[in-house]
Amino acid sequence: MRAAVFKGIGQPLQVENVPDPSPEATELVVEVSYCGICGTDLHSTREGAFAAECDSILGHEFCGHIAEVGSAMKGQWAIGDRVTALPFIGCGVCKSCINGRPFECLQVKLTGMNTPGGFAEYVKTGASETIKLPDDLTMQSAALIEPLAVGLHAVRVAQLKAGERVLIIGAGPVGLAVSLWCQFFGAKDVLVSEMAEQRRAMAKQMGATGTLTPGATLGEEFANLSGGAPDVIFECVGAPGLLQESINIAPRRSRIVPVGVCEEPDTIIPLQALVKELSMYFAIAYTRDDFETVIAMLGQKRIDATPMITDIVKLDDMPAAFEALRSPTSQCKVLTEL
Ligand SMILES: [Zn+2]
Ligand SMILES: [Zn+2]
Repeated sequence: MRAAVFKGIGQPLQVENVPDPSPEATELVVEVSYCGICGTDLHSTREGAFAAECDSILGHEFCGHIAEVGSAMKGQWAIGDRVTALPFIGCGVCKSCINGRPFECLQVKLTGMNTPGGFAEYVKTGASETIKLPDDLTMQSAALIEPLAVGLHAVRVAQLKAGERVLIIGAGPVGLAVSLWCQFFGAKDVLVSEMAEQRRAMAKQMGATGTLTPGATLGEEFANLSGGAPDVIFECVGAPGLLQESINIAPRRSRIVPVGVCEEPDTIIPLQALVKELSMYFAIAYTRDDFETVIAMLGQKRIDATPMITDIVKLDDMPAAFEALRSPTSQCKVLTEL
């Protein structure tokens, strides 16, 4: 099969012929329709905790059709079934796996990180992490299930209540997904702070009730627009300094939810959070239930995330599109079409 292969830090991905995956007894092989490019994929190609091995295949936001069924799964899955999967292959039998939290399985393989991912014609999935798609859900929408699940998980972790005021820092795919769910769950104000004008416009299409420009007066501007201070602040960028900025803006007994991936050391002044009795809830990834909820809401047409798709590229053009995402850009979600 053809795949975009990571050749080492500082080098562009390269489209190559690699062996087709073959499923273990409890695995499936999916013929990929689309695979979205994620910030995590970019992280994997840099020095740091996420750095991928040379010759790995990235990509964890994929959907497609079943092409091959593992020996123990015959009868439960049919060739051609339309599916997506959590990008984890767990052991399937431990407590975490049974509870739909394969990310926490001690034996988990991470699809697109330490096991080959979706920037390829075929990808291997765990049967217990694979989920069938509603018939009328388009494959382009289905490629957004993973980022939407990240946003849903963060909003669930925040214990958001209807009527609350929300500040979202950053309108990348994660910030937009958080914005969509905050609106969905009835937040009174969903204000998104974002530098790029095109992304601010996108935020308004994705649930934001207003947008703000980052800067020293962000807290005041929030109050001017909403008539109060935020009950919840979602930090969806992952850059040093933003947690302290959130602490500065947060009113007494409010919540801060870091969702952005920050690999660098960062400094906060705990006293400022202490005197306000702030709560900080970190959120990562998603559960199987998050995926199922996203799929149900998409299937019932109660949400639409397609405005965040700015580009669709063929596999041969994907390495260049991937490199372009390294520098600030107006692009948001870029899908690879296989
Ligand atoms: Zn992702
Ligand atoms: Zn397990």
